[in-house]
Amino acid sequence: MTNACEKDAFFAHVVSNPKFLYSAYSNFDCHDLMTLIEENGTKLKTERGNRVFPVSDHSYDIIDALKNALKSAKVEVKLNTEVKSLITEKDDEEHPVIKGVLLKNGERIDAKRVIVATGGFSYQTTGSTGDGYRFAEEAGHTIKKIKPALVPMESKAEWVTKLQGLSLKNTELSLYVDEKLKYKERGEMLFTHFGISGPMVLSASSVLAGIENYEKAYVSLDLKPALSVEEFDKRLQRELADGNKKELKNILNNIYPSSFAKLICELSDVEEYKKCCEVGKEERKRLLKNTKDLRIPISSVRGFEEAIITHGGINVKEINPKTMESKKVSGLFFAGEVLDVDAFTGGFNLQIAFSTGYLAGQSKE
Ligand SMILES: Cc1cc2nc3c(=O)[nH]c(=O)nc-3n(C[C@H](O)[C@H](O)[C@H](O)COP(=O)(O)OP(=O)(O)OC[C@H]3O[C@@H](n4cnc5c(N)ncnc54)[C@H](O)[C@@H]3O)c2cc1C
Repeated sequence: MTNACEKDAFFAHVVSNPKFLYSAYSNFDCHDLMTLIEENGTKLKTERGNRVFPVSDHSYDIIDALKNALKSAKVEVKLNTEVKSLITEKDDEEHPVIKGVLLKNGERIDAKRVIVATGGFSYQTTGSTGDGYRFAEEAGHTIKKIKPALVPMESKAEWVTKLQGLSLKNTELSLYVDEKLKYKERGEMLFTHFGISGPMVLSASSVLAGIENYEKAYVSLDLKPALSVEEFDKRLQRELADGNKKELKNILNNIYPSSFAKLICELSDVEEYKKCCEVGKEERKRLLKNTKDLRIPISSVRGFEEAIITHGGINVKEINPKTMESKKVSGLFFAGEVLDVDAFTGGFNLQIAFSTGYLAGQSKE
């Protein structure tokens, strides 16, 4: 539901426009959200990486708490009620002012203030079909190009797709763009029929949302991050010496997941059935390189239908960060993913939605 981290860590996990979120987060942070949920009847727990979940692990318990909060605040909820457009008028000074919304069924709802919290363009089955961008554009706002983020990556390398189904733990992933290190994390990942996925890959993909040419990007895997290159080389030399007349693949099976030993040999151009004592220094160096710096070329990322969030959105320069009100239309507010804000995985995106939503809800003008 959120991430119970320190304030600085929260902003360090926001990929786009962290400064814009200072007021919203200071006004309603992860602890305020946790208190709100617990006071409304749902107990929470904090797990690895400060990630906060309901004790029950059921998302409907969070929904129940939010429903209780709405009930106490006497909020009327209209489900399955699609908004077609915003209604705006110009005031005496020719400045646009919000007047309400027009529903798809033709009904008009008059309002002095409207908050657009329609989400992004990802996972459209959840209802976020990008309507908010259209509403914003019609109100005179500009939209920063939207792209899928927190999304699996595609690779055209045949060896990558051949490993589909294999998951790796305790691996270090580094993402390079134009040979510059852009992201580094240790954790879990998964090979798929199109490329790579899993928590580390999803987070790293947020960095790729900012670039046009994916061909300039590659992922480097360190399969033995606990050992330095020198330490791993020593281990390899020891294993090879102990292995002596045994086939190389037998000792490599002690070092890598089983489907990897064969692959590392292939990629390193070393015969897997070779006797350990016959592995030369150059061959050992190639095995070493492909263990500490195994490169996966990236060709693209998957589409919006598989993206957890949407990168890009309403230009935050056109929104007052202290209130979430539009600078173009009085009484019109925006909150959540529809804005050009996004963060890594770990509960940060939901917290952004709650913080900006809370601030917009509190703000009068
Ligand atoms: C599978 C998945 C897993 C995720 N896991 C996490 C996670 O673990 N942690 C995390 O922080 N984030 C996670 N996210 C991201 C997070 O859910 C979103 O960032 C967050 O929900 C955005 O909140 P929002 O209120 O801006 O938009 P949304 O939650 O998308 O809500 C938008 C709402 O607006 C409604 N709507 C849209 N258009 C209209 C219209 N024209 N009229 C009326 N209603 C409309 C939609 O039906 C929807 O109910 C996940 C997302 C997905 C898809």
